[in-house]
Amino acid sequence: MQADVVVLGAGMVGVSVAAHLQQRGKAVVLIDRRPPGEEASFGNGGLVQREAVVPYPFPRAFAELWRIAQNRSVDVHYHPSALPALARPLFLYWRNSAPARHAAIARHYSTLIMTAPREHEELAAAAGATALLRPVGYIRGYEDAAAFAAELARAEGVKRDFGANFVALDGAALADLEPHLRHGFTGALHWTDPYAVSDPHALTLGYARLFERLGGHVARGDAMTLSRNGAGWRVAADGTTIEAADAVVALGIASDRLTRRFGYAPPLFGKRGYHRHFTPTGNAGLTRPVVSNGFLLAPMRAGIRLTTGVEFARPGAPPTPVQLRRAEPIARTLLPLGEAVEPAPWMGIRPCTPDMLPIIGPAPSQPHLWLAFGHAHQGFTLGPTTGRLLAEMMTGDKPFLDPLPFRAERFR
Ligand SMILES: Cc1cc2nc3c(=O)[nH]c(=O)nc-3n(C[C@H](O)[C@H](O)[C@H](O)COP(=O)(O)OP(=O)(O)OC[C@H]3O[C@@H](n4cnc5c(N)ncnc54)[C@H](O)[C@@H]3O)c2cc1C
Repeated sequence: MQADVVVLGAGMVGVSVAAHLQQRGKAVVLIDRRPPGEEASFGNGGLVQREAVVPYPFPRAFAELWRIAQNRSVDVHYHPSALPALARPLFLYWRNSAPARHAAIARHYSTLIMTAPREHEELAAAAGATALLRPVGYIRGYEDAAAFAAELARAEGVKRDFGANFVALDGAALADLEPHLRHGFTGALHWTDPYAVSDPHALTLGYARLFERLGGHVARGDAMTLSRNGAGWRVAADGTTIEAADAVVALGIASDRLTRRFGYAPPLFGKRGYHRHFTPTGNAGLTRPVVSNGFLLAPMRAGIRLTTGVEFARPGAPPTPVQLRRAEPIARTLLPLGEAVEPAPWMGIRPCTPDMLPIIGPAPSQPHLWLAFGHAHQGFTLGPTTGRLLAEMMTGDKPFLDPLPFRAERFR
């Protein structure tokens, strides 16, 4: 089978790249070992985050590092056995989190993030999936008055510098918005621009269907079979060989396994996260996601989704959902929750880079190989933005934003 492009990986990023290329007249085959959207893009918090212009830094205060080192918190958990292999990327991450470097990184990151809601709107409209983008924002609640004051000041800066909108809520205003929330918050921030998606998998599938309606082909195969075919590529899928002029690597956390074969070894590392759904009790519910105490509670089609923060583990290590066990009793004090919906928690892996920026653009020294991975905490948000940016680069159109900060060569 012949194609112009094979896109490897059908998560939110790969599906969006494929749809944008197909919209621009390329004949694209989208290849995954599973049906679209079944890994990290399946079980996330469903937020399309216009306000997340500042990526999560590595903690630098001693008290914070000591708290995490004790390995008893809700927001961060680690397997000690994972630390030796993570030492280098985490050291680079820590170094990039120094205030001046982090501020420069945020300036680059913001250029992507600020476009995300609009890019989702465009793709969702074409896909007939606009109803999945709920314009309700989300809430961050704070129990500690000093922490709330600090976050309020930070939020004012984000509003001033990047135009992200929020409303500061007292107890009465929060009760009006979310009457079932039984909180002890001293204050809360309602970020009003983000979309809350109550079925992230359905949105990824919606974009995959759009791709197919445009004439694209979804195929099942192992991306690791990619090999050179003259100046182009060949890959095995659907029991046949697919040949294409260009290939895109959008394999999420598995991306560097493939790029290493072609001489590119970025220090990609994973931050694992879990979710579990609970039935709400009686008529209790949430209108929008609420973040607090190191976890997120989101109203989803499947129930109230409790998602956790970050876990560091060796690749392939079995799930250890201790953060869910720690978070669940606290979540039950916030909202009357009934039974767990699934017998076992879901786990996904955020693909992270040490400078908190994704890798988008051509692969070093490999003509016709393109990269789109490393979107960390905001890959669901950034899929359509990355899809458009990469498609414009590949088709020779003028990129709608500067791709230079996201170039692969920065990790050579
Ligand atoms: C708990 C949690 C909460 C999150 N909340 C949010 C949020 O609210 N908002 C947000 O923007 N982001 C959120 N994220 C991050 C977001 O989910 C990810 O950044 C995003 O899904 C990454 O998308 P991707 O397409 O790069 O990777 P994936 O969705 O993981 O897709 C990669 C694809 O590659 C395929 N693949 C891998 N290896 C092979 C192979 N050898 N052959 C063929 N196919 C292969 C996989 O099957 C998969 O379909 C969250 C993540 C987690 C874990």
